[in-house]
Amino acid sequence: MSEDRTPQEAYGHWKEKWFQRHEKLIEIARDELGLEEYPEDPDKQRAYHDRMAELKSSDEELQRAERKRDEVLEELIEENAPHGSEADKIRCIKKAILQIKNNQLAEFLGLSQNYVTKFRVTLRGDVIRSDIPQSVREKIRKRDGDACVRCGETSELRLHHINPVLRCEKGECHVPENLATLCEGCHHLAHEDGSDVVLTYDSTDGFWEWVNEGGESSRTSP
Ligand SMILES: [Zn+2]
Repeated sequence: MSEDRTPQEAYGHWKEKWFQRHEKLIEIARDELGLEEYPEDPDKQRAYHDRMAELKSSDEELQRAERKRDEVLEELIEENAPHGSEADKIRCIKKAILQIKNNQLAEFLGLSQNYVTKFRVTLRGDVIRSDIPQSVREKIRKRDGDACVRCGETSELRLHHINPVLRCEKGECHVPENLATLCEGCHHLAHEDGSDVVLTYDSTDGFWEWVNEGGESSRTSP
């Protein structure tokens, strides 16, 4: 890591490098296969995914960015939680790198995304573990029809706290009225910068307005 970069900056830098290179590989794969956009035909989709997998596994620039990105995380752990538990490691990284994605952190630590997601950064920058009771989880999933309330996506779903954990009064945090099912993409948008600190809306009503603005289907506050 460069000495004048904070871990957060270094992580952002390599994440961006990775993203740019990944975009380039998509372009290369599409050019080779003569595709203007993502194909609808399943055979062409398979050919495209196979080619992307080949390109990604042999591309040095992409792998370098990935390695550098992970090195930042290794260094953070080494400096702050070398003998800590998995929970300590998650806390250490989330505290230092607000924009880290749960799926990348989970992959890096070899943990499930579900577990990593439980650790949330509060408005004060602390990392706390927040567990939504299983019965409440199931209730919300059912209420929201196992789909993102904003765009209708059915994969990579997560439960979103409409009012962030620290803004809730005790006991009103993990209640159905404060929870909504969002997909990974919409959840990212809700948190604007991908962290728990900045939200796209400023109230519960504001949340449901935001949901209805962005989506195809119209949902109302349950
Ligand atoms: Zn969505």
